[in-house]
Order: sequence, then structure tokens, then C-alpha cells
Amino acid sequence: MANNQNFDTIAIHAGQAFDPTTGAVIPPIYQTSTYVQDGIGNLRGGYEYSRGGNPTRTVLETLLAALEGGKHGLSFASGLAAEDTILRAILQPGDHVVLGNDVYGGTHRLINKVHAAWSVQNTTVEMSDLTAVEAAIRPETKILWVETPSNPLMKISDIAALAEIAHRHGIVAIVDNTFASPALQHPLDFGADVVVHSTTKYLGGHSDVLGGALIINDDELYEKAQFLQFAAGPVSAPLDAWLTVRGIKTLSVRMERHCKNAQAIAEYLDGHPAIEQVFYPGLPGHPGHELAAKQMSGFGGMISVAFAGGAAAARLFAESMHLFQLAESLGGVESLVNYPSEMTHASVRGTELEVPDNIVRLSVGIEDVDDLIADLASALPRG
Ligand SMILES: *Cc1c(COP(=O)(O)O)cnc(C)c1O
Repeated sequence: MANNQNFDTIAIHAGQAFDPTTGAVIPPIYQTSTYVQDGIGNLRGGYEYSRGGNPTRTVLETLLAALEGGKHGLSFASGLAAEDTILRAILQPGDHVVLGNDVYGGTHRLINKVHAAWSVQNTTVEMSDLTAVEAAIRPETKILWVETPSNPLMKISDIAALAEIAHRHGIVAIVDNTFASPALQHPLDFGADVVVHSTTKYLGGHSDVLGGALIINDDELYEKAQFLQFAAGPVSAPLDAWLTVRGIKTLSVRMERHCKNAQAIAEYLDGHPAIEQVFYPGLPGHPGHELAAKQMSGFGGMISVAFAGGAAAARLFAESMHLFQLAESLGGVESLVNYPSEMTHASVRGTELEVPDNIVRLSVGIEDVDDLIADLASALPRG
């Protein structure tokens, strides 16, 4: 693929040539576990066994790297499988991770519960406070884990400044780019070493497939992660990889609508008497607004809202809508509402990452915005 193509073209074509035998425009789902060898060790196209490689997965991995402007892509069964792989590719027992104090609950659980059993230590820190980040770094620190925008409070972290701190201390800067998607933000351009995705969200985009990704520039780190992908086997299945490729084709147009709808909804909710605060980086009053405008090309489709009436008001709202369906996850074409403190972030209750119980998170879909606002209005107390 020519490197001078623009994002919208890359999203539709990278890694995908028509099938040479049939002319099929769409690369097939290679639903196979193994490959015939023309004599022992004489492989056709390098494929031996689908844990090590599968042509449908190769399409997705090539596409993921191209979308992020990176050298290597790897695709996994879930976002957390991708995270686990990169953590184990870098960390040894005794090592230390610095991560944001409102990262995705599952990321914290993976590091704090699973990796902790192998003596991996961690410190959570306010990522917008660069002095605090620097102070949290120890001689054993190997990873700075950044999520921006963060989940669920939509905090924006300065990728370039954080990558600079990481590199000054010789540690790897990893950015979870799930909320922005590569349509809005390219962390590698700001100096990040590794990009992580839950492709379950915006990349897949249709709430019908789980997946995760790593995009890595450094050859040596890529080889370590690829070895673990092969040796431990958390790979994406062929059908899952194919569905994700299919979803990515419309990523740009979906993100445009997600951003437009979310902006209108954030403006509608901002200032409503039932609502104490709206967390959306597209609002000028959001503390990360200017930084987001600098490092992102749009403000995304995720909004969180704090209710003045506390937990009871938040719960009632979350359970009262029709178009916004009450469910975990995000980034699909359909709108969803989530009550983080008991749903997505239940695992961080009682920790420093606990989400206030008056917060409701909206994943704004691409439906008609007037219908979405009518649905929200029906669930809000009348003034
Ligand atoms: C969902 C999510 C993950 C985990 O991905 P899965 O595909 O559910 O394993 C990681 N990071 C963020 C920001 C997420 O929203």
C-alpha cells in the first residue's frame, strides 16, 4: 500500500487485495485451523497453524498497523488479552507500572489482581499532574500506562508530555486509544511506544464481536509480543477478525456522526437543573478541552453525567430510557447507557479508582439526534 494514502482510504483498503483466484473483492474468512505443507516445513504463504497465523487475521493486523501509522499490528481475542500480552512482554516479577487513576476498571483489575500475583507492583496517579507522574516513577518502573480520554470521567492526558517523561526514565509509554479510536487520535505520532485497543468498541463498531489490538513500532518489542501471542494463544478467531475488518471500513463516517450527536447531547444536558456536571471534552468548560482539540481531531462519542440528585437520580435515569439501552460496553452504532459504579467499574469499588455513584455514562450512537434527545428528556425530571 502506498504510504501517502489518507486515513479514509487506508481504513477501507489497507491489507486487502482482491482474491487472486476468484476476484472476490472481500478477503475471505479462512475458517481453518491448519495448512497443508508441500513437503515437510515447506509452507504456502508462511501459514502453518492458525494460532501462529491465519490469513484473515493477517488482513486485520496489517490494517490495524496502517490505521495507527505504526509498523506492526497484532490482533487478540479481547482488549484485555492484548493488554495481558503487552504487560507480560515487558514486565518481570518485581517490576512496577504507573497508570492513570481512572483507567478502565478491567485494566486496573488485570494489573492489580492478576499480575500482582507475579509480584508486579503498580501506582495509580492523576495523569494530568505531570509532577505527580514523575514522582510515581521508581527504578523498577517499566511501563507508563495512559488512557485518554479516560473511562468514565473523560479526562484528557497529554500524550506527548507523558511519552517524554517515560523516555527520559527509559520506560515504555503505552496508550489505550479505545475511546478516541484511530479516526480521532494517533498516539504514536505524539511519541507513544505502544497503542492498545479494545476493538470490541469503536473499531468493531456494531456490538457484535470482541477483540483487542496492539500496535508497536519497535521490532524487538513486537517480536516479544508476537511470540507470546503464538505461545499463549490469545488470538482472534477468523470470523471475529473478519467482522472487525468489516466494521473498520465505516469507522470514519461513524465517528463523524458519533462526535456530532455527542456534542449536541452534551450541550443539551449541560445546564439542565437535574445535572450537576457533564463530562465531555467537546464542551469549552471541560478542563481537557484545549488539549483534546490539539491532540484529537474530534471529541468522540462518550459522555458522562453527574446527577445532582445523587445515586437514586442517576439509577432512575439509567433505567428509564428506551433508545439508550442499559448495557455495558460502548462504541457501537446503537446508543447505550451504563451505571459505572455497579456495572463496568464494579471491580474498582473501594479503591482509589472508585467511580462516584451519581455518575451515568452514555455511549452516544449514530441514531437520529432528535430521537436521542427526546429519549433523554423523557428520563429527566421535569423542571
Ligand atoms: C472495554 C475496554 C477495554 C477491555 O477490552 P475488552 O475487549 O472488553 O477485553 C480496555 N480499555 C478500554 C478503555 C475499554 O473500554
